[in-house]
Amino acid sequence: MKASLDQVITRLREANRALVVGHIRPDGDAIGSVAALTLILRKLGIAAEGCIPDHIPWFYREIQGTRIIRSVAELRGKGFDTAVVLDASDISRIGEAAQLLPGREPDVVLDHHVTNTGFGALNLCLPNYAATAMIVHEIGKRLVPYDRELAEVILLGIATDTGFFKYATVDDRTFAVAAELARHGARIQPIASAVLEHRTPKTIRLLVDMFRTLRLEAGGKLAYAYVSAEMLRRAGCGEEETEGFVGEIRALHGVEVAILFTEWPEGEVHVSLRSKAYVDVSRIARALGGGGHPRAAGCTLHVPRLRDAIARVVEAARVALLE
Ligand code: AMP
Ligand code: MN
Ligand code: MN
Repeated sequence: MKASLDQVITRLREANRALVVGHIRPDGDAIGSVAALTLILRKLGIAAEGCIPDHIPWFYREIQGTRIIRSVAELRGKGFDTAVVLDASDISRIGEAAQLLPGREPDVVLDHHVTNTGFGALNLCLPNYAATAMIVHEIGKRLVPYDRELAEVILLGIATDTGFFKYATVDDRTFAVAAELARHGARIQPIASAVLEHRTPKTIRLLVDMFRTLRLEAGGKLAYAYVSAEMLRRAGCGEEETEGFVGEIRALHGVEVAILFTEWPEGEVHVSLRSKAYVDVSRIARALGGGGHPRAAGCTLHVPRLRDAIARVVEAARVALLE
């Protein structure tokens, strides 16, 4: 059911033991939002646990507040009376954390994806918010006093989902909230350092390998590249180490649509889609079983060969560019 902020707040206050869940292949918004809402609920005296149902890239742990987040295994058997899902557009995005829910559906879903399916008993999806962390802040500021730890995980969510304040989703409100968070002690420098400056020699080598696969089409408007399972093995990298790579493809001058294909594990290809100015990549992703935002979306394809995934998605992107 579509819910208002007030309804969500009333429901959250009724919780005794709350589970706060983010999505698989977590990004800074999922991680920051889960940490933030968990901290807020604990400040209210609610026994809250934050959960990310997947591996968390190591560099996020440099932000203090993210360390309260637990895995699904650590929370099994805990028993919750309330489940809140954050930054996920459909239930499949919470992976194995679905097993921890007290009911069949989450009690509350807070999200900002245009592709949100409305899968919560109370569903608050605000696509004009640059980050789910901004919605969490709307709740937090009404309920609890802020400290640096809380302000900083909210800033982590906003900073990462706006590409550090450079996407078209950024408006005066985004800067106003960032200023509020800075007044509470949040620092952008450690966040930028953790998220943007974590490359290692082996991830640089992987990035070079990726750029060797770069293809340009449609007069340079479409750019795509891949990272195969074999390339990951050769570089000794985990799949999460491709974080930020698709942004490097979009950074090419004149590119409108950038696509990165990551084959991991074998038989599965994660597709990251980005656009710059006018192509709605969430439509491409949704048509392929995924979702996302107009300028950043993704999907996962189960295909025997990487090149099958590439052929399908590149064709869809060509069509979208012609529309
Ligand atoms: P990514 O390319 O993985 O960084 O994802 C970009 C955006 O698309 C994020 O907002 C994700 O939440 C969303 N997204 C990625 N993969 C999927 C998927 N398989 N299903 C739904 N949304 C996705
Ligand atoms: Mn996210
Ligand atoms: Mn988000």
